[in-house]
Amino acid sequence: MSSVADRDLRISKLTKEFATFTAVKSLDLVVPQGSFFALLGPSGCGKTTTLRMVAGLDTPTSGSIHLGDLDVTYEKPYRRPVNTVFQNYALFPHLDIYENVAFGLRRRRSPEVARQVDEMLALVELTSQARKKPPQLSGGQQQRVALARALINRPEVLLLDEPLGALDLKLRRSMQLEIKRIQTEVGLTFVHVTHDQEEAMTMADTIAVMNAGVIEQMGSPTELYENPATTFVANFLGQSNLIAGKIIGREGDVVKVQMEGTVVSIPADRAHADHGDGWVGIRPEKVLIAPAGQPIDAPGNHMTGAYVTDVSFVGVSTQYLVRMPWGQELMAFEQNTGVRGIIPVGTAVDVSWRPEFAFLLDASQDVN
Ligand code: ATP
Repeated sequence: MSSVADRDLRISKLTKEFATFTAVKSLDLVVPQGSFFALLGPSGCGKTTTLRMVAGLDTPTSGSIHLGDLDVTYEKPYRRPVNTVFQNYALFPHLDIYENVAFGLRRRRSPEVARQVDEMLALVELTSQARKKPPQLSGGQQQRVALARALINRPEVLLLDEPLGALDLKLRRSMQLEIKRIQTEVGLTFVHVTHDQEEAMTMADTIAVMNAGVIEQMGSPTELYENPATTFVANFLGQSNLIAGKIIGREGDVVKVQMEGTVVSIPADRAHADHGDGWVGIRPEKVLIAPAGQPIDAPGNHMTGAYVTDVSFVGVSTQYLVRMPWGQELMAFEQNTGVRGIIPVGTAVDVSWRPEFAFLLDASQDVN
């Protein structure tokens, strides 16, 4: 009898070569059983190929895939406890919703079809639509049917390949929460492929950021956003200011960096380089500005001699571009709390951020 921890999905040194092109390069990852895991990356980075190998639709060139102790690397797709939901739903148009969901059970001559289908339709909130045909449903409803159909055989792992790609933005947002709710209720392992960073952050417990066939970084949405380890991750998950500096070295639990005109301290656990040239990274909403001479609520890296070059009012926030004395423009996003008016273009400002919010990256990497 396997224990709960025995059903983690373990991918080890997984590689896929197509003729002259290597789509997936020695990928290692562990997806804990029952977690919501997102594979996030730009088009062509190897997400779908990875998913297809887990599903058994592509054969790895090398490496292995285990579910707990079970080696499924070369197992036939239908013999794996894995199911996939695709973007295009792949429903049977001539069968009603009930029969679409029941299909897998009938094929396996499973007992208690009615009870199981009723339960599944209730889970995806489509009980009242059971006798309609797929073309009579909205895109979001069809995707929920696809989800119910994939879940009814109780796979251990559900793979979702850009399942919301065909939906408009508003429906996408509500389906993200809906799928997350369903995952929490059924408690199965979900592996979700997407190129949409907001989608991954909304849904997943853990995100693996993929780029050119390798995983750049893996962690919780907040870890990846607040403490990116590479320039690719810093830029793929939102916007960041990257400021060139020379790394002086570690002093206690901070790393000191000489930037233009000032020395800044980066917490050691956010420093992903320890010598040579570095990028000091700071998210725009962590950059505070104030008209020159007025106090800023951020002890630490206080810089003077900047001025506002651009202002965009976007409702919830105001987005500033601020030219620093060394010529670089930094982004500073400020919540519109109504406490202060908008600072006009041309105003001389002081700039600051709390040192604990900055991160340090290796500057030998390209800035993507
Ligand atoms: P998208 O979001 O666009 O689907 P992806 O990250 O899922 O992108 P993959 O579909 O895994 O990317 O493709 C990774 C790379 O492998 C791409 O450059 C693609 O052109 C290539 N590739 C995929 N399948 C094949 C194939 N059968 N033969 C040759 N090259 C392939």
